[in-house]
Amino acid sequence: MQHRALLSAILMTAALAAWAKQPVATGHGGAVATISDQASRAAMEILDAGGNAVDAAVAAAATLGVTDPFSCGVGGGGFMMIYSAKDKRVITIDHRETAPAYFSPTVFQKNGKEIEWDDAVPTGLSVGVPGTVRGWNEALTRYGTMSFAQVLKPGIRVAEQGFKVEPNFNRINTLNEAKFGRFESTSSLYLKEGKALPVGTLFRNPDLANTYREIGKGGVKGFYEGALAQSIVKAVNTPPTKAGVTVLTGQMTLNDLKDYEARLRQPIRSSYRGYELYGMPMPSSGGIAIAEALNILENFDLKSMPRTQAEHLYLEASRLAFADRNAYVADGEYIDVPRVGLLSKEYARERARQIDLKTAHGKATQGDPYPFQNDLSVPLRPQPALAAEPAHTTHLTVTDREGNIVAYTFTIEDWGGSGIVVPGRGFLLNNEMTDFEFSGPHPNVPEAGKRPRSSMSPTLAFKNGKPAFSIGSPGGSTIITTVMQTIVNHVDLGMSLGEALAAPRMSQRNGDKTEVESLLKFVGSPQAQALEAYGHTWSETDEIGAANGLRFNDDGTVTAVSEPLRHGGGSAIVQKQ
Ligand code: GLU
Repeated sequence: MQHRALLSAILMTAALAAWAKQPVATGHGGAVATISDQASRAAMEILDAGGNAVDAAVAAAATLGVTDPFSCGVGGGGFMMIYSAKDKRVITIDHRETAPAYFSPTVFQKNGKEIEWDDAVPTGLSVGVPGTVRGWNEALTRYGTMSFAQVLKPGIRVAEQGFKVEPNFNRINTLNEAKFGRFESTSSLYLKEGKALPVGTLFRNPDLANTYREIGKGGVKGFYEGALAQSIVKAVNTPPTKAGVTVLTGQMTLNDLKDYEARLRQPIRSSYRGYELYGMPMPSSGGIAIAEALNILENFDLKSMPRTQAEHLYLEASRLAFADRNAYVADGEYIDVPRVGLLSKEYARERARQIDLKTAHGKATQGDPYPFQNDLSVPLRPQPALAAEPAHTTHLTVTDREGNIVAYTFTIEDWGGSGIVVPGRGFLLNNEMTDFEFSGPHPNVPEAGKRPRSSMSPTLAFKNGKPAFSIGSPGGSTIITTVMQTIVNHVDLGMSLGEALAAPRMSQRNGDKTEVESLLKFVGSPQAQALEAYGHTWSETDEIGAANGLRFNDDGTVTAVSEPLRHGGGSAIVQKQ
């Protein structure tokens, strides 16, 4: 019961520390969980005005673009999963940023050598064609009930009236001082004399309010064609650098923007211990990797084991799934990914045989999923070096009184993306193209029109045909482990969704060490020491993910769940207590 004591301590600290934000709320009708109180309130405002979950999700997302501009916004892209209660159907909208037409496999190389990742990020070269506005448009016109102009109102209000800079905003802003300092437009919006905006500063973004107004008026064309499109292309191809600063430039065209399409894709369907799971398909690797790891875990009776052994198996299953994800998964429109094999329960059984119940395996090689889809095997390539996939982004989730659900993860990639604010427009451009491998041969090399592999994993779980829970997180490739661990905590280890989400996170992505959080003081804890006896070792990072979820309870209520501590704590609200 030790973990329960720790979790209630975390929840209590959060309740005291939070700025009147609630990380957990239970009630009836609609519900929302996001990392920003203003965004959760925006969703509620739209639900209260008669909008559905899709309308509310776009309103929350647009508000997050104001309050969490370093994680997400109209300069980026994402993956939205929608459950339509009327149709009893799960839909996914892929609006991932796309490589402009000038891209080629060597675009991130110079004289035959890879450019350093850190040098590639704060440039015009790293910017992909933004997908967010096209994605919102698909969601609203196909599944929403309101117009752009209506759902953008709360975001416009927050951008116009402003808000006080909170410690978490300041923390991320500070991390970005050097990157933002390269660009005039970004320095004048987010820095004061070269330093991050101090806590308590009233931050207003009237340029972004105007951008939202233009989208409200002109719709999707208002963003992808005309003056706004021209200002994006200009910022990418001639970045607004300060005197004396030079950066790599892009060669995006107006046609790249005009031609951008969001794609409706079949979700990844799998099952885990009686739950039916829906995950994000390619170009995200999230749905496949989570399904494979859980399929591997199904070969063990975790409930009957000591908690430490169950966690050991979670880490090992994750390691094996990541070996496969790293080797095989990329944009399925360009690459023949062995999806059926990777999702096969028989393949998972074979992978599970490689797990030692008592000892950590160390780095794993990819398996051979081809025979499990009646395909010829391909020669195994050497495991690629782990690519830099740092941790940012945001996830939100909403449900409405009809029972529609949205689980939505969207991003501009790195904290602060490329660091380029489009002059006069108030939003940062993504650096999503650095999610490609910089050299091949590899399925995830850059190509014109291709979408880089993602880890974003909005996930829905059903039981007996009814919604059971939703979950998703930011965090680069740790998104996959956060979603997986939260599911294991909830389904196997008997934690409530709130406890499952608050628990210390461990992220094993086929590296030498498992990443854990200094925020929750994991290293040195009895839980860590018990796992060390299995051979696990740790590398520390400040925090992993900032998840949000919904739990549909047997008594007909819904519980919205956000973070008690991470990312400054999130905000869960229900329509009726
Ligand atoms: N670029 C990441 C992905 O698509 C998201 C950014 C992050 O979470 O760091 O998986």
